[in-house]
Amino acid sequence: MTKSILKIALDVPLDRLFDYLANDTNIQIGHRVLVPFGRREQIGIVIDVSSVSEVNPEKLKPIKQAFVKEAPLDAEMLGLVKFSADYYQYPYGQALLSALPARLRQIAPAASRKQYAYLLTEVGRLVNIDEIPKRQRILREVLAAMQLKTRLTESDLDAISSSARKAAKALVALSYANTEQVLATPRIALAPIVPEPELNTEQAAAVALISREISTFKPWLLHGVTGSGKTEVYMRLMQKVLQEAQAQILVLVPEINLTPQLEARFRSRFPQFTLISLHSSLSESERLHHWQLAQSGAAHIIIGTRLSIFTPIPNLKLIVIDEEHDNSYKQQDSMRYHARDVALVRAKRLNIPVVLGSATPALESWHNATANLNANKYNLLRLKQRAVSAAQLPQINCIDTTKVHLQHGLTPQLIAALKLRLQRQEQSLLFINRRGYSPVLLCSACHWIAPCTRCSSKLVVHLGQRKLRCHHCGHEQRIPHQCPSCGNADLHPTGHGTQRLEQTLAQLLPAARIARVDRDSISRKHALVEILDRVHNQEIDILVGTQMLAKGHDFPNLTLVGVIDTDSALHSPDFRASERLFAQLMQVSGRAGRADKPGQVLIQTAFPDHPLFNALRIQDYESYANTLLQEREQVQFPPFVFTALLRAEANEYALVQKFLQFAFAHARHLSDAVMTYDPVRPQMERLKGMERGYILMHAQQRPALQKLLAELVVTLRADKLANKVRWAIDVNPLEF
Ligand code: ADP
Ligand code: ZN
Ligand code: ZN
Repeated sequence: MTKSILKIALDVPLDRLFDYLANDTNIQIGHRVLVPFGRREQIGIVIDVSSVSEVNPEKLKPIKQAFVKEAPLDAEMLGLVKFSADYYQYPYGQALLSALPARLRQIAPAASRKQYAYLLTEVGRLVNIDEIPKRQRILREVLAAMQLKTRLTESDLDAISSSARKAAKALVALSYANTEQVLATPRIALAPIVPEPELNTEQAAAVALISREISTFKPWLLHGVTGSGKTEVYMRLMQKVLQEAQAQILVLVPEINLTPQLEARFRSRFPQFTLISLHSSLSESERLHHWQLAQSGAAHIIIGTRLSIFTPIPNLKLIVIDEEHDNSYKQQDSMRYHARDVALVRAKRLNIPVVLGSATPALESWHNATANLNANKYNLLRLKQRAVSAAQLPQINCIDTTKVHLQHGLTPQLIAALKLRLQRQEQSLLFINRRGYSPVLLCSACHWIAPCTRCSSKLVVHLGQRKLRCHHCGHEQRIPHQCPSCGNADLHPTGHGTQRLEQTLAQLLPAARIARVDRDSISRKHALVEILDRVHNQEIDILVGTQMLAKGHDFPNLTLVGVIDTDSALHSPDFRASERLFAQLMQVSGRAGRADKPGQVLIQTAFPDHPLFNALRIQDYESYANTLLQEREQVQFPPFVFTALLRAEANEYALVQKFLQFAFAHARHLSDAVMTYDPVRPQMERLKGMERGYILMHAQQRPALQKLLAELVVTLRADKLANKVRWAIDVNPLEF
């Protein structure tokens, strides 16, 4: 009997494959197909080709179309998604289809737009940049880059500026450049644009140790203070791996559009290799094109955010995870995977090394690297000093806000420090993790606070737009003229956000050039790159911003970091809040004094003696991490137990409660090895108009928990109530 039955994964919330008849002998496992499903047609992926069906073959429908000209998804990628879908209790078909670029989920064949590169002409080579007017800044920059590299792809141009493509076209019009279509970039030997520094002892040791085991699975935790040269270590390892023909490398980064510098550094270090990026701000056609370059093996270096962990990369030889502690590696909806954990699985299956880098490793990772564990855990490597010999770690001090008079939320000490930087023509950064003008609108008479009607949260004042806005659901309304509760007209924006801080600074320091970086000011694709450019060109004196500013940026002339209003995190009910705050403050402190000028960090707080600040002052991640781990062990929190949540939400809480009660009783009945807790409501009881609840499960052993979840999910999927609530399993949840 011929094998003509196709087992197909579809994007439907059922954890099973669907049988169809093949009508094309060229179909292979991993091919995309179009199939009739209910009254619609859907894209599916062939998972197996078989001669048997669970259904009577006469009832099977043939597929509509098979995209046999496209390369099929490879077995390694399929296997990884399958493993993850099982581990995170999510339907395989949905996991698989959502891992693909949107274009591959659409019915039309996936032709990607042609990509172009710009080549310097002989005329262009001879042009003296200084003859081009200074105001044509981008044109000059593009030409300069072209004179260095001779060839720039559209992605190279995008890394320069959002208007660089336009400039490149102008260069073509001037006959300074030609265009060519990009197929796969050839490997041409080009010298790195920036020379390699000589490694210091710690870096050299790290590179040597990892190099020795470069072709086997081993997780390495590279713990290095900010500016200690972790990126340099990655690049040496990449260099080593790329010596092997066709080798590919995956570099995971938290949010690539926030760290354009990293991509630029890789590009200038590895001009002879094809580098592509995969992240959410690419257009759909760019994303498809990049993804296909990874899949075909043409891209040597793939730098991407969490989703890129599921990209097919046939010759993957090394995975690097930069800022491995970053929460953006965890997906917070659909399949709630953690890209770091999936990367470890992938590396293990491929028998390749994985390097996790951070100045403040996640406590889970730190535990894996330091505890006496017998299993295959992490190898710890330390970089204790900043790499540039003149760069010292910044001096960190707290300013007690209870002892001084604040001027619009700023202490006299911080204002004086800002003035000093202005005098010295050095730059400052003020970190405040709250966007908007002020976090609440308060009635001075009855203490009414403007609430969001759809969430259990307060509305944030956005004075510029004269709006109140919910940062959880996006709801917007005009600022009321009087209190809806008592009629009083005296409503006060209370507390500080980035906009208010920006305004205050403009009043206090009228000569200062100030820029604000938060999600409101950076909504445009290239807005951040432009602001960062201006900082580098010394056109900005003070940067005000949220955690967006904390990561990765390297501003040599920035010598002061001020931290405002982080006290609420010190007393948060979330057991991970201190870990997160410490990491954030270390990161943001790390922006100060990265070159030869010493850096200073001033933290405004009402709790200057808090252990977190004590550890921060001496930049002692290790002992603080160990203290936090001891606390977690005492109360049996992760990483000492394995946890999962069953989350549920519905229009009314009664439904949620009924569903969770049922699940709770069933889970209790299924396993004694797993502790299941009564249904509770999260701190944010209502979100986007939905009433929420969850049950927590925890176990001493991972397999017991996995077994329970797998069984529980089968029951829940079959339960009638499950259609009336939205529910999800969250394995290793980061947020409660
Ligand atoms: P990290 O990734 O740990 O924050 P980076 O790799 O960005 O650190 O290094 C910080 C700075 O030090 C960069 O400007 C980098 O070029 C420089 N650097 C790194 N290693 C060395 C070295 N061995 N000698 C001199 N400079 C170095
Ligand atoms: Zn009132
Ligand atoms: Zn809301």
